[in-house]
Amino acid sequence: MNKKIALIIGGGAAGITAAYELAVNSDIKPIVIESQNSIGGLAKTLDFEGLKADIGPHRFFTKDDSVMKLWTEVLPLQGEGAKDDKLLSREVDFKNGNANPEFDDNVFLRRRRFSRIYYMQKFFDYPVKMNLRTVLNMGLLRTALAGFSYIKSCFIKRKENNLEDFMINRFGKVLYQMFFEFYTQKVWGRHPKNISKEWGEQRIKGLSLLKALINKFSPKKETSLIEEYFYPKNGAGQMWENMAKTIVEKGGEIHLNAEVLGINIENNRVVSLKVKDVNGIYDWYGDYIISSMPVKDLILGMNNVPEDIKDIAEGLPYRDYQLVSFKVKNFNLKNNTNWATIGDICPDSWIYIQDREVNVGRIYIPKNFSPYLSNDIKETLICMEYFCDKGDRLWEMSDDEIYKFGIDELIKINALKSEDDVERSYRFKTEKAYPAYFDTYSDFDKIKSFIDSIENLYLIGRNGQHKYNNMDHSTLSGIEAARIITENDDKRKLWDVNTEQSYQEAK
Ligand SMILES: Cc1cc2nc3c(=O)[nH]c(=O)nc-3n(C[C@H](O)[C@H](O)[C@H](O)COP(=O)(O)OP(=O)(O)OC[C@H]3O[C@@H](n4cnc5c(N)ncnc54)[C@H](O)[C@@H]3O)c2cc1C
Repeated sequence: MNKKIALIIGGGAAGITAAYELAVNSDIKPIVIESQNSIGGLAKTLDFEGLKADIGPHRFFTKDDSVMKLWTEVLPLQGEGAKDDKLLSREVDFKNGNANPEFDDNVFLRRRRFSRIYYMQKFFDYPVKMNLRTVLNMGLLRTALAGFSYIKSCFIKRKENNLEDFMINRFGKVLYQMFFEFYTQKVWGRHPKNISKEWGEQRIKGLSLLKALINKFSPKKETSLIEEYFYPKNGAGQMWENMAKTIVEKGGEIHLNAEVLGINIENNRVVSLKVKDVNGIYDWYGDYIISSMPVKDLILGMNNVPEDIKDIAEGLPYRDYQLVSFKVKNFNLKNNTNWATIGDICPDSWIYIQDREVNVGRIYIPKNFSPYLSNDIKETLICMEYFCDKGDRLWEMSDDEIYKFGIDELIKINALKSEDDVERSYRFKTEKAYPAYFDTYSDFDKIKSFIDSIENLYLIGRNGQHKYNNMDHSTLSGIEAARIITENDDKRKLWDVNTEQSYQEAK
């Protein structure tokens, strides 16, 4: 009997996981269709002439046991210290582990999380905590003003018309202006006044100054405040590459440079996909279609879509992104913690940059994720993260212009002493890095109902479901899609993945 076929659009975390689950646990043959020339999507690992970096910092963290079980099935937990832990005699808790990262490649490292805010050339805890360091950093006057404005916000509540009101009610005006106003604008390209308060409820649900203080003394941590994460020895992409090997070994297929251009629907079923690959444009047929491509593009590529659904899809907003990276001789953000580091640079995996005079959103330091991301542990790659919109000033800059711009910003915040400290420069741009909850997103329920009416179509992943997913949510949506198909369960359950939005990778 011929096996049933699942066509899976997109070879990122979600698509690869769905394919892996079907290949390992079912009789259905997965066929992954990926438009790029490598798998991993937003969670792939880039290689800049031997210096590896992800598309921005990618920590692995999950509250879901099935996700952790799968990740550690693919990459066993470390059972010995990593190179930097050993060289620096750092204590790392690796109980239950077995793989030795010094000899094995397939290792899931357990890393200590440092990620602080850098503002006014000082490090603040992330999220901001009311402790002695914050008081010293801010100075007595500013601390008193922040305290008064916080107390005021506890008693005099603003009417919540937008995100600005939402944040001021929770943190007070002074802290809002210092830590949220400009940063939110940097990340999303919109002032908090022009963002709905519901966005705040979804994104930072459960976090407030009071909760941050309670968390400090509580054994049960809020998920956004976790101080440890896991990470594949050779970069985030290693997780999906390992899964891809298994998919092929088990008889599945992965097609790179193959782009889905159209979706042919008849009688509430997807009949075929129009796919362009190196051989031309052909119709591909499958029993089940699992899609992690942006839902906007998916719907605009369908036939017979009602006009209102098309309009909602067309209006869905995204934020694009670029990574500007420098191999540096000297990084001037030095270590002021008691956690030893190679070269005595700051131990942060990524740093939130709050200063208003620069555009960089975060600085990401790959070697603090894994000492195996470069051949020489002494080499340092510094990656500047710019949130932007395709076509804007930052996006359109030539490579030379953006390198000069980035170096100037690093010098401005004293992270670099001079441009002579930069040895090599790299740039990577990606579109639709962040699905945003603005504009027609308020009507997204109509898109859900429309998709639910197409029997054999299953939407998964970050842009697939237009949800601010992390890798674990994308992984879980892949696991769920495979389960729902094999158990013939209600496919509407897929929308339930990541309904608890209380921790995120960007503030
Ligand atoms: C800067 C940044 C930092 C992040 N940090 C973290 C973090 O610390 N921890 C964390 O857990 N998560 C983090 N994330 C989120 C994480 O990257 C995503 O949740 C996850 O990678 C999404 O996987 P996905 O498979 O859902 O989507 P994607 O990775 O977007 O995969 C979709 C795939 O579909 C392909 N595709 C698109 N259109 C077509 C088409 N027409 N035909 C064929 N293929 C197509 C794309 O090429 C892509 O490979 C971060 C994201 C960013 C941008």
